[in-house]
Amino acid sequence: MTIRETLIERATNIRPKAYAPYSKFWVGSALITTDGEIFEGVNYENASYGLTICAERNAIGTMVTAGGKQIAGLAVATENGVTPCGACRQVMIEFAGDDYPVYIVNTTTGEVKDATVRQLLPEFFDSSQLPE
Ligand SMILES: [Zn+2]
Repeated sequence: MTIRETLIERATNIRPKAYAPYSKFWVGSALITTDGEIFEGVNYENASYGLTICAERNAIGTMVTAGGKQIAGLAVATENGVTPCGACRQVMIEFAGDDYPVYIVNTTTGEVKDATVRQLLPEFFDSSQLPE
């Protein structure tokens, strides 16, 4: 099984664990670090709505907690194959180091869109733009 296939499978399989009682929009994500470690995340909502955390940022938070610093690939699985939100794209860039593939999975059709994090967020803001 390739890394691509593994991430797609892990994101798809973790998706039912999402906590999405309000939107009913379950999202799963899985990423691999440059060290080869895999981390998963699901979205979790809140009655206040605004405090919802996306699956991608949850997976990244788990990676950071475990000491991971650089993502080498990430998959996100939804019922309709939507792309990550703007907040997630910015966080995904923070841990990019270099560009990396993003696999956008439609769990209904099984289709996967292949992108890269820089394609998803061109002209991104990062630490190189902060004053010295
Ligand atoms: Zn998001």
